[in-house]
Amino acid sequence: MVNLDKYSSIFIANWKLNGNSSFLKDYYEKLKVNSNNCTIICSPSIYLKSLKGNNENLFCGAQDVSSFKEGAYTGELSASMLKDNNIDFCLVGHSERRQHFAETNDKVNTKSSNLIKENIIPVICIGETLEQKEKNLTEEILTSQIKDSVPNLANHQNALIAYEPVWAIGTGLTPTLDEINQAHELIKNFDQKFIDFKVLYGGSVKSSNSKEITNLSHVDGCLIGGASLKVDEFNTIIS
Ligand code: PEP
Repeated sequence: MVNLDKYSSIFIANWKLNGNSSFLKDYYEKLKVNSNNCTIICSPSIYLKSLKGNNENLFCGAQDVSSFKEGAYTGELSASMLKDNNIDFCLVGHSERRQHFAETNDKVNTKSSNLIKENIIPVICIGETLEQKEKNLTEEILTSQIKDSVPNLANHQNALIAYEPVWAIGTGLTPTLDEINQAHELIKNFDQKFIDFKVLYGGSVKSSNSKEITNLSHVDGCLIGGASLKVDEFNTIIS
């Protein structure tokens, strides 16, 4: 399992359903990984056996995993198959999967647990919708998502949490810096066991706001969607 304690910050590129072979080749040629940081590229799964080379601070992450271990589940990829292909990280419970693919907290919990058992670090995504934020339900939603999505065997060395307000993903909107820091503090103080967890922020991070977000006291890195598709932009964010 990757030693998370080694890194001051963690940056994850979530390419979603984007990219092809030539994009990938060009991207890895231009990518400049900073050795203080852990950099993870979550490409579509067919490209996971990538051109990443031997950079010890650069890792491949999957965008999803099956909740099943094996059997008659057409189209699925199991945690052990990811491990077999040297995948070290996997996003779980991304809001797009919760919204479009009926991913429940229970499923996120099972997937995360299966990943940890295969020594793959789940990046467990949680976050409130705009409607929930407007009803002042952010704290309630985050605590129930943590309680139900994070498996008992998760700890600060084998799992990551990403705070991704749903309304900030792909919209260009972000919470205020205070709101981001407070949400991260809330997550870390939810229970004694979460105090040392690394918690990443995701939602419209770009080169113009990444530094002020990463510098927040309770933020340990960022999960980046749209801006990670432009390698120059991503290089600036991780530099
Ligand atoms: C994401 O996909 O997790 C994400 C945060 O996207 P974006 O950076 O485009 O808001």
